[in-house]
Formats: sequence, C-alpha cells, structure tokens
Amino acid sequence: VAAARAARPLHMSAKLANVCYEIRGPALARAKQMEEEGQKIIKLNIGNLATFGLLPPDEIVQDMIRNLPDAAGYTDSKGLFAPRKAIVHYTQEKGIPGVSIDDVYIGNGASELIVMSMQALLNTGDEILLPAPDYPLYTAAVSLSGGTPRHYICDEQSGWLPDLEDIRRKITPNTKGIVVINPNNPTGALYPVELLREIVEIARQNGLIVFADEIYDKTLYDGETHTSIASLAEDVLFVTFNGLSKNYRSCGYRAGWMVISGDKRRAQGYIEGLNILATMRLCSNTPGQLAIQTALGGYQSIKDLVAPGGRLARQRDLAVDLLNQIPGVSCVKPKAALYCFPRLDPKIYPISDDQLFILEMLEETRVLVVQGTGFNWPTPDHFRVVFLPHEDDLREAIGRIARFLDQYRRR
Ligand code: PLP
Repeated sequence: VAAARAARPLHMSAKLANVCYEIRGPALARAKQMEEEGQKIIKLNIGNLATFGLLPPDEIVQDMIRNLPDAAGYTDSKGLFAPRKAIVHYTQEKGIPGVSIDDVYIGNGASELIVMSMQALLNTGDEILLPAPDYPLYTAAVSLSGGTPRHYICDEQSGWLPDLEDIRRKITPNTKGIVVINPNNPTGALYPVELLREIVEIARQNGLIVFADEIYDKTLYDGETHTSIASLAEDVLFVTFNGLSKNYRSCGYRAGWMVISGDKRRAQGYIEGLNILATMRLCSNTPGQLAIQTALGGYQSIKDLVAPGGRLARQRDLAVDLLNQIPGVSCVKPKAALYCFPRLDPKIYPISDDQLFILEMLEETRVLVVQGTGFNWPTPDHFRVVFLPHEDDLREAIGRIARFLDQYRRR
C-alpha cells in the first residue's frame, strides 16, 4: 500500500482546470528549446521592455542601488508610506476623487494585485465581464477564484472599442464586476471619455465594480491623452491597477499598485478580504516599492519614446505598415501601449487551430508571436505582435512572417 501511495501521480489541483496563460504557453517553450539548439529567435511575444534595450530611467536605477542596503526588511502589507503617498498624488493628478493612503496597495507587479482582487471577491458562480480580446491574466484570475469569466466583444471595426450592447447583453444577476483595460493590451486601443462614461453608467445601474487596468496610461502616441475611468464617478466602486513595468520600463522590479476609489462604503467586506490577502503575502518586495516614488516624481522619459519620431512611435508605425502590406492581413493602428493585433482574413488563411499555426510559423520563420485565442479572442484569425524590437529586427521578423504567409496562401 505504501509503495502504491509513493508511486501515485501528482495532478494539478482542480482549481486550475480552466486556468491558462498562453503568452507563456507551448510556443514559448518550443522557442526556448530552439534557442538551446542554437537557433536565434526574434521575439515579438512579450512586452518585456528592458530586454529590447528600452531601459528604466537612470535615476530609478541609481536610487534603487542607493536604497538597497536599507531595503532588507518587510514593510506594512499595503506598502511603505512614501510610495503610497506618491501614488495618492498620482491619483490626484488623474482626477480620481477621494483616495487616501489607506486605499493604496502596492504589489509585486500589478499581476499579484489583479489575482488578489478577484480572489477576495468571487464565490463559485459569480461572473466577471472581461474584454475579448483580453489580457489573459484576468480570465485566469477569475477562473482561479472560482468565478466565471464572461467575455464582451471589442469591435475591430470601431478601432477595438468595447461593444456596449454586448456588455449589456451579458450582464446577469450574478455579475459582480467589469474589467476595463484602457489603454488596451493586446489591441492598443485607447477609449474615448464618452465610452468610459457609458461603461460607468452600466456599472452604476447594475451595481458592478469597475476593475480598471491603466498600466499603459503614459504609453500614448500621436499626442493622445488618457482619462482614468475612476475619475468619472464617486458613486461606483473602482479598483484601478497601474505600475512601473511599462511606463517606466521596469518589468523586473515588480512594482505595481492598486487603488480603491468611489463608493467604498458599500465595499467594507470586500476591502477586509483584500486586506487579509495582502497580509498573507506579508508585503511586496521593498526595493521595488522604493522605486515608485522616484519614478512618479521623476522625468517622464516615456514621452520621448512615444512622441512622433521617438523609438516606440517609429516601431509602431513600421510594424503596422508592414503588416498591412501583407495580402489578407489587416491591422488597426494602436493609439497606445506596445502591441498590435492583426487579423488574418479567414477566406485567405483558413486556420482551424491558431496555436498550431503559431508553432508552425515559429518553426519556419524563427519568429515568435502569440495566437489570438491566447487572449480569449473567440476565433482563430488573429495574432499579437509586440513592437518592441528595433526597426531592423521588426523589418526582418515581419518580412519572414510575410514570406511564411505567402507560402501558406498557396497551399
Ligand atoms: N496589465 C496589463 C494590461 C498588462 O499588459 C500587464 C503586463 O503585460 C500587466 C497588467 C502586468 O503588469 P505587472 O508587470 O505590473 O505585473
């Protein structure tokens, strides 16, 4: 009996049955294997800025080095006073009303807090509205928490804006909240204020929490401006996520935050849940916390990268132009963030399994992208391109994709 027990296979928990995160899925594993075999892969798959030479501002790095000797202790579970104060000031700049230090939670990246925000809220059967396509961590976090993800469609024809009718249609008595990713990953959409107001109204009428992911709120092209959805109402509960990873090119410092605002009175129980989870992981990494104050108060160098002629703006323009030149491929020009989400006309590219398609493309081209269904897009006719590589690498990578698609069409 003991031997049989010792040989028992160890399965993953049932909680994970519907949890997946395809951005780091099988294609990435295959790409790693190919690299180990000595092949060079061009990675258009992950928004990891520093690995493309897009480095954090030097003042953040220098301050982290200076602070490191004093950063060996745990902090308050929600985070240190000074960076939380800096985050409160940031919410004031964004016009989010009524935020105090107590409403700010610092985490090991926004990711940790996104998972926490769902774990603290959801019971089996509770539903959360999520965009399709989405940043897949949300769908995974809702599933892990026992909730049911319900995806609302973002409309490619209207520049990937959320379809309000679809949102309304998908609300049930079990719907607890709606996730709004603005600026959006993977589409690069930036939502106009009128649309945000309509989403707020839907949330108000149905008592929904608005989970607002604004991690790209400074990564804006063509002089665009960003409105925090939480600045638009005081009588709706908002949970806003942001952090240093993207705007400050500091993914590895794992410094993110979450701010509760609006109708907090209604949310005392939920907030208690958040506090329990925050204390369970003791605190977020202290060096990352210390970077926040420097970042928010410092020179906003992202502006140079996204301004016309700046490195990110040039790479965006090039990627979108080259993709749109491929027959049967159409790509909405992103207004923000680091990604575009081109469409493959199904009449020209009859793909039945886009994960296999992306793997085949990887084998043939040594270019790695992520399939659209990895972002919970319902049909196998999109993929996501990260336009972080230098222009020469982008030209090479998209050229290879174009040649691969040319062969594919002729089959
Ligand atoms: N939210 C969105 C929309 C993202 O694209 C990402 C990372 O790509 C995250 C959150 C995670 O950010 P962090 O590095 O702060 O965990």
